[in-house]
Amino acid sequence: MTRTLTKETPQKVGEKVILMGWVHKHRRLGKLVFFDLRDRWGVVQVVVREGDALDAAKKIRPEFVIRVEGLVKARGEKNVNKDSPMGAIEIEAQVITIITEAQTPPFEIENENLQANEELRMQYRYLDLRHERMRKNIMLRHRVIHFIRNYLTDHEFVEVQTPILTKSTPEGARDYLVPSRLHNGKFFALPQSPQQYKQLLMVAGFERYFQIAPCFRDEDARADRSPGEFYQLDLEMSFITQEDILQLAEGLFIALIEHLNEKLGKKYHFTQKPFPRLSHADAVKQYGKDKFDMRKDKNDPTELAFAWVLDFPLFTKQTEEDYFHGAGKTLAPSHHMFTAPKEEDVPLLDTDPGKVRAYQHDLVLNGFEVGGGSVRIHDPKIQEKIFDLIGFTEKQKKNFHHMLEAFTYGVPPHGGIAPGIDRLVMLLAGEKNLREVVAFPLTGDGRDPMMGSPSEVEKEQLDELGIQIIKT
Ligand code: ASP
Repeated sequence: MTRTLTKETPQKVGEKVILMGWVHKHRRLGKLVFFDLRDRWGVVQVVVREGDALDAAKKIRPEFVIRVEGLVKARGEKNVNKDSPMGAIEIEAQVITIITEAQTPPFEIENENLQANEELRMQYRYLDLRHERMRKNIMLRHRVIHFIRNYLTDHEFVEVQTPILTKSTPEGARDYLVPSRLHNGKFFALPQSPQQYKQLLMVAGFERYFQIAPCFRDEDARADRSPGEFYQLDLEMSFITQEDILQLAEGLFIALIEHLNEKLGKKYHFTQKPFPRLSHADAVKQYGKDKFDMRKDKNDPTELAFAWVLDFPLFTKQTEEDYFHGAGKTLAPSHHMFTAPKEEDVPLLDTDPGKVRAYQHDLVLNGFEVGGGSVRIHDPKIQEKIFDLIGFTEKQKKNFHHMLEAFTYGVPPHGGIAPGIDRLVMLLAGEKNLREVVAFPLTGDGRDPMMGSPSEVEKEQLDELGIQIIKT
């Protein structure tokens, strides 16, 4: 007999089944033992009345992994649990086998309201992930990513994996560095985003690229910003205008939300569709910031207020805090240095660069930026001018020589966007912290208490890399 999943039990009334899973809730009632058996799909109630099964049932405790052989029975009318999809049936156990025992967990799995502190949750993340809420969040994330992959594949996009060991990619944050053993004294950087690679894929002629891309930025954490790593839906298209990128992304998000409503019975609705478009100047004038919340009812967890922000200034003033590699002059790119100026503003690059507007687009959702992108520069002369304006030295320019060189071999006009997967799923799940939608996140202060990372390494490893630790 093959294993039956909990979700399949309602269709098997009167049949004998084998279930496997974890003991969820467990209680004795006089001579009977009741417990809920949990698998990935849900929980089902098991009753044990007599015989060897009863002896075994008395030994089990929450979180034991067990095998139950028994009969699926319809519950009496007044015992039906309407809140559970498996609430109309129960399993009358005939044989119970303990597969593995479990210690008492450091926090309750059954009762989610008794939330443990973050440190404990992260140290025992594999137990925290047993909570129904976490399972639902991770499943939602999977659904979102799966839908995006299908949708973009249907729209002729190609998924390409770009390198993780690479060179500094300027997105305005600090890099994570990886020392090279083969090239002592040299370092790889983990990508802050696949920006240059995706542009080079356009030069290569792929025309439509996407990737569920891990991005690494050494920044301090906030609830809506992960320390370390996060995932973006990175995409790029050739022979397009800004309008094409906006249409594609908007179409994708609308289709995604409709899919979730249909498949998961969600009740998301849009505040406005098509998404409203505001210029950066108007957004700042109206809301005092460029990440604004247009929801009509901020207490409605199903309301989604998407909006586009356009016409950003190409440059912002560089501040001390800007961790930008071209630091030196007073201008920094608002988005990044590959963003194209609007055609009509190109002459201003020579006369009044602060006034130049960019082909940049940000997507805002319920007060958060969920994606940013731009049409890119594909004229090497303009790219060089931007390098000069942001104060690049000749040495810094050399770091991007490959981009300028690539552009001399036939570059199509191109552009793209990169919505943040974690942030999007956080908002769809109604969560307030990114950690609730990431299976194994770092703590707020950038550690993994479960793995114990970051950690010290053996002296031999350091010697091989030619690295000496100087305690600061
Ligand atoms: N690479 C950009 C970012 O990470 C997104 C883009 O311009 O497509 O913000």
